[in-house]
Amino acid sequence: MISAQLRDAAMVVDLKALKHNIKQQRAALPANSRILAVVKADAYGHGAVPVAHAAKEAGVDGFCVAMLDEGLELRRAGIDQLMLVLGLTPVHYASVAALNDISLTVGSVSWLKEYAELAKNESLPPLKVHLALDTGMGRIGFRDVAELKQALALVNQPAFVFEGMFTHFATADAADDTYFKQQLGRWHEFLAAVDQKPPYVHMANSAVGMWHRETIAANTVRMGISMYGCNPSGHELPDSLDLQPVASIVAKTTFVKHLQAGESISYGATYTAQNDEWVATLPIGYADGYLRRMQGFKVLVAGQECDILGRICMDQMMIRLPKSMPIGTEVVLMGSSKGKTLSATDLADHAHTINYEILTSITPRLMRRYKN
Ligand SMILES: *Cc1c(COP(=O)(O)O)cnc(C)c1O
Repeated sequence: MISAQLRDAAMVVDLKALKHNIKQQRAALPANSRILAVVKADAYGHGAVPVAHAAKEAGVDGFCVAMLDEGLELRRAGIDQLMLVLGLTPVHYASVAALNDISLTVGSVSWLKEYAELAKNESLPPLKVHLALDTGMGRIGFRDVAELKQALALVNQPAFVFEGMFTHFATADAADDTYFKQQLGRWHEFLAAVDQKPPYVHMANSAVGMWHRETIAANTVRMGISMYGCNPSGHELPDSLDLQPVASIVAKTTFVKHLQAGESISYGATYTAQNDEWVATLPIGYADGYLRRMQGFKVLVAGQECDILGRICMDQMMIRLPKSMPIGTEVVLMGSSKGKTLSATDLADHAHTINYEILTSITPRLMRRYKN
């Protein structure tokens, strides 16, 4: 898909804010802790390669991606630190990981057996593995200590380097910590069964790094949404780190008109002006990932909130201006304008989703512009 360079609409990515957020998390952790920057899904829509380079400059110890292709993209871009694939990789693709020094998550004994067999036949370099432990997320991983013990016996073969073990929490961003504590208990049972701990023992996502730091009996935080300056809980829990939003969305008006009372706007003619008013058109729409569900929300023009009028189109949308303003006037759809802010969480609330989905919905067509 092309990234449109010849229109005035962009996602602006502030890499200085990204580095600030990493340093905030670092400062809040014990001195020997490690941070793995989670850059899956094109760094939550921010652009994996520029984000990874900036995170590396800020001193992260490695990276997490969701799938092997994402890890390869970063290896090809010259990122040479630890690169962990968090999802599961079919055995028949795993040799690509071994050959590119990419670490894989493993969640079953049969996978280890099959890969060990394959590696012997193809004389592959040792594959770095992290054992996933299911303490209650119910997604992937070993489910009891007996199974883990079988895996531990297998990862000590020459086909593997036992690099890590980890779990993932389902409710670390919730005010009620009952389920979190249950999962933590399971995690400690698993840990107690492992005599020789691997170098990376990790259980913390952003939410654990923000609200359960005292429980990090592990040495590594997998920092995702908080690195991008968003609160993992939305509005449920207060920020416990001084985070700065990394992404904003801006566009310049392409058309301005004076609308008369009784005239309508956009598909379905769902909006009809009650009074005479000034209306501007923006060159951005739902095909850029500015969701159609954002109808009825607002944007910022020179620090003033302006209503979105009518339905959001695939490539364009209309807003009410406070007064006549020239074509080319800058509009902030997400971010700050003269002290007023529309955060990714604010957009998410309107669209009945989470800030993660707002960010990862932005499509490649919307140009990414990097600051700092
Ligand atoms: C996506 C993901 C993370 C990052 O989560 P955030 O809430 O964005 O910090 C961490 N660990 C795993 C296993 C993940 O899948």
